[in-house]
Amino acid sequence: MFTPQNTTKRMKRTILLTLLSISTFTQGAFAQQDSIMLDKIYHESFYNGQAYDNLHHLTKKIGHRIAGSPRADKAVAWSKSIMEELPFDRVYLQDVKVPYWDRGPQEKAYLVGSNEPLSVLALGGSVSTPAKGLVAEVIEVELLSDLKKYGDQVRGKIVFINKPWDESIVETGVAYGLNSSQRSRGPAEAAKLGAVAYLFRSLSSSKTDDYPHTGGTGYVKGIDSIPAMAISATSAIKLSNALKANLHTKVYLEQHAAWKGIVHTHNVIAEWKGQQSPDKIITIGGHIDSWDVGEGAHDNGTGTMGTLDAIRTLMALGYQPKHTIRLVFYMNEENGVHGASAYGQIAKDKQEQIIAAIESDAGGFAPRGFDIKASADRVAWIQQHWKPLFDQKFWVSRFLQGSPGVDSGVWGKHFPNTVMFNFRPDPHRYFDLHHTAKDVFEAVDKRELQSGVAAIASLLYLVDQQIDQL
Ligand SMILES: [Zn+2]
Repeated sequence: MFTPQNTTKRMKRTILLTLLSISTFTQGAFAQQDSIMLDKIYHESFYNGQAYDNLHHLTKKIGHRIAGSPRADKAVAWSKSIMEELPFDRVYLQDVKVPYWDRGPQEKAYLVGSNEPLSVLALGGSVSTPAKGLVAEVIEVELLSDLKKYGDQVRGKIVFINKPWDESIVETGVAYGLNSSQRSRGPAEAAKLGAVAYLFRSLSSSKTDDYPHTGGTGYVKGIDSIPAMAISATSAIKLSNALKANLHTKVYLEQHAAWKGIVHTHNVIAEWKGQQSPDKIITIGGHIDSWDVGEGAHDNGTGTMGTLDAIRTLMALGYQPKHTIRLVFYMNEENGVHGASAYGQIAKDKQEQIIAAIESDAGGFAPRGFDIKASADRVAWIQQHWKPLFDQKFWVSRFLQGSPGVDSGVWGKHFPNTVMFNFRPDPHRYFDLHHTAKDVFEAVDKRELQSGVAAIASLLYLVDQQIDQL
């Protein structure tokens, strides 16, 4: 039946439907525009990417670079120089003070009697053995908590933690996390019971790996500091078998590591000024320091050279950012995180508006996606609007709520509302190389690296364009 009321209703519905279809059409048009931009980004990265060549320089001409070392300073100066070659508005160094730990001459370890060598590396931050080394019997356990039952028998012995890696976990970072706390708090726990040294089975995803994996450890005030070393997975198996054959097997350990005091060093920062909201900042980057073995290629040469190249890619395409994009190469992620602390403190004091962060510190393997530190609603929005641009065409499909990277996590304490993205490449091989002499340039695949650069550049573009809609 025709009534004026029905006409009004009908008109309202028509207007609503028209608005909806305009909005769907506009969204579709934007999505199409974004899709075209992502195609261009991937094309630029695969054809003209510079991350791989820059990584070659960093790893082969500079090499590993623990914070406080002369090589770390060289990496800082060189990073600044390559940033200055790009059209950033500002490139500068930010002061950071770090404690410098030096490994000294190569460690030695063997089974006393057979002289069978054991592959070991001092854990970062460890004190040295006596200059002529030490010899002691060994107590083997899987867990630190198992030590209690040995009570007084631990006195004068080497505590050997032999907990194998859980190979069934695909998310290798989780397997790493299950064992890593025993690396950091073990020496103090063992020393409390009178142990003379600490041997820790390397955090490696392979049982056939004879490379020891270093990593940070620590001590507790008031408890003796004892030398702490990582032992390779195969040497751990060798030692365990020797102990099964003879419980009184003795081991010789020698290392000369020491703290060398406080050193003044830097974060390296470059800014590309936003055209619409220059005061709103998107921070992107990774740590420039590495452990003092191998070449720090996957950890974290790929993260630094990759994020730099992501910005270069957008620059090469003539892109003009809405917000200021700030690239940060953090110093000292590996043994103190002082670079990220300094960055956060300065940004907090200046009351900066950091609206988003992207970190790359999980290797340069084929990209799989991003973990996102944001509310569930925001993550759902990203899954709905951004994921379809990546997943089928570029094989990048992980957009899940999760933790930020270590550096973003540290400075992010001052910025609880910043949306943070943590780049996630394929995790399978990362912990075969992590913190070892095997983490070299040759372990990085150019195509995988540049595919990661394209994924990061695409995300950076979408964040810059659409963060205000989140
Ligand atoms: Zn790292």
